[in-house]
Amino acid sequence: MDNKYDIIIIGSGIGGLMSAFVLSKHGYKVCLLEKNEKLGGTLQAYKRNGRILGTGMHYIGSLDEGQMMHNIFKYFGLFDGLQYQRLDDDGFDVFNIGGKEVKFPMGMNNYRKSMVQQFSDEEKAINQYISGLLSTVKEQDVYSLQEPSEGKNSESNFLATNAWDYICSLTNNTNLRNTMAALNFVYAGRKEVTPMYNHALINYYFISSAYRIVGNTEMIADKLASQIKALGGTIFNRQEVEELVFDEKKLTGVKTTSGKIYFADNFISNAHPTTTMSWIPEGKIKKTYRKRLTGLNDTLSAFSLHLIVKPGTVKYRNFNYNFYKNNDVWYASTYDEKKWPEHYFIHWPADTLNPKYVNNVTILTHMKFEEVEKWKELPVKQRGEEYEAFKKRKAEKLLDLVSEQFPEFKENLETYYVATPLSFKDYLGTPTGSMYGTERNFKRPFDSYISHKTKIPNLFLTGQNLNLHGMLGVSLSSLITSGEFVGLKKLLREVRETF
Ligand SMILES: Cc1cc2nc3c(=O)[nH]c(=O)nc-3n(C[C@H](O)[C@H](O)[C@H](O)COP(=O)(O)OP(=O)(O)OC[C@H]3O[C@@H](n4cnc5c(N)ncnc54)[C@H](O)[C@@H]3O)c2cc1C
Repeated sequence: MDNKYDIIIIGSGIGGLMSAFVLSKHGYKVCLLEKNEKLGGTLQAYKRNGRILGTGMHYIGSLDEGQMMHNIFKYFGLFDGLQYQRLDDDGFDVFNIGGKEVKFPMGMNNYRKSMVQQFSDEEKAINQYISGLLSTVKEQDVYSLQEPSEGKNSESNFLATNAWDYICSLTNNTNLRNTMAALNFVYAGRKEVTPMYNHALINYYFISSAYRIVGNTEMIADKLASQIKALGGTIFNRQEVEELVFDEKKLTGVKTTSGKIYFADNFISNAHPTTTMSWIPEGKIKKTYRKRLTGLNDTLSAFSLHLIVKPGTVKYRNFNYNFYKNNDVWYASTYDEKKWPEHYFIHWPADTLNPKYVNNVTILTHMKFEEVEKWKELPVKQRGEEYEAFKKRKAEKLLDLVSEQFPEFKENLETYYVATPLSFKDYLGTPTGSMYGTERNFKRPFDSYISHKTKIPNLFLTGQNLNLHGMLGVSLSSLITSGEFVGLKKLLREVRETF
């Protein structure tokens, strides 16, 4: 049978692409099915007014030589033909918290020094905090590309510890507490639920070193795709899976909305768990399992504003900028539609032709899916005047707030484009357009983490919903899922030993 494969992978986000790369490299006949025209999920970019606008991923951590992402990028061939720009050592992320500016310098020692300089009475709390980060990371074998020891993760206190409670237990200084938690937008943290595990891994990952890609992140997707093809893998875009096909009890194929059926021995879904469950006919999977996977909370969605600015007018800054209107950095917890926006995150990729300047600026903040839900059944680009007016109103409100700090954006604006939670829903296939998939909750430490194995023996999962989101979480999850076929120990050794 021509269209029978060893493994079909559904979805070409980082998780799907990396799994397809590993499995093709190990001799499996792999087929990757993607619903969109473009591959990459949140790595995708789009072109408007001659500018390339990124849709999601903007920076990558731990990419210095000797750090874990460096090995992973080497293994996946992501240094060949791609360039990365190291962000500012003395402040790769700059925060404005209630009017006070704070910077995160790169490297744990620099971070410690800078925190102690700013909060000289709090050296003990700062040292304790850094020990907490380091011991959480050290507990995770897979973070150092070692096979997880049996039962070790279940002993981790940090899955069942709330990040904010932990921070508050170290100091009463509100400014220090906020500074420690300031990076939480990159994991859509909520102070009531976010485990120390997520906080520690992400903070450690970016503080170790932070880079942005020169160009746009779609180049990572393209690079992975071309290598998959060179290794013998097959990729079909515009193939939206709508059903899993069973022969008696065994899963044998997937059916797409175009009516095509693709057959394989094994299947990996890179889609949101609720989406994956929607493909499985009644009676083919345990009701309790389906209920658990579809009942998980999603992280909040986003509103993004892409400004097209006149070339050569807005200077490039080698850092990200995070604004919190109030002296409280947990915006996902305090989110209030009536007061929106009270937070934003700015990412400004350098103009490749004139790198001292930018030609577009991305501004991101949270937005609830419910605010746009009433337009969800309408076709893309035909959602009507009311939706267009909503987008305009929101874009201008956000631009007004941003212009208080950066008046040059408005002064040099050519035009702008907007993405709402509906855009994220449409192009990622997630039910609520969540930024980082399902939410982790320290109160349900094991229920909110999803295994790569499902209750269907030849159906596996990969991607941001399993353990951790982002380049870090998803590349590790793709190794764990592929390790099911290749042998995890062997695979991690291969990655560690890539030079
Ligand atoms: C605005 C934003 C900014 C971010 N910034 C960063 C950052 O700076 N650094 C960082 O590390 N992380 C960042 N992230 C997070 C990171 O981008 C994601 O965690 C990661 O890319 C998710 O990868 P994934 O493989 O799990 O899935 P996704 O990227 O969600 O891809 C899933 C793929 O599955 C496809 N699919 C879904 N349903 C079907 C179907 N029925 N049939 C076929 N295909 C289907 C989708 O079209 C999509 O291509 C950001 C995310 C967002 C939204």
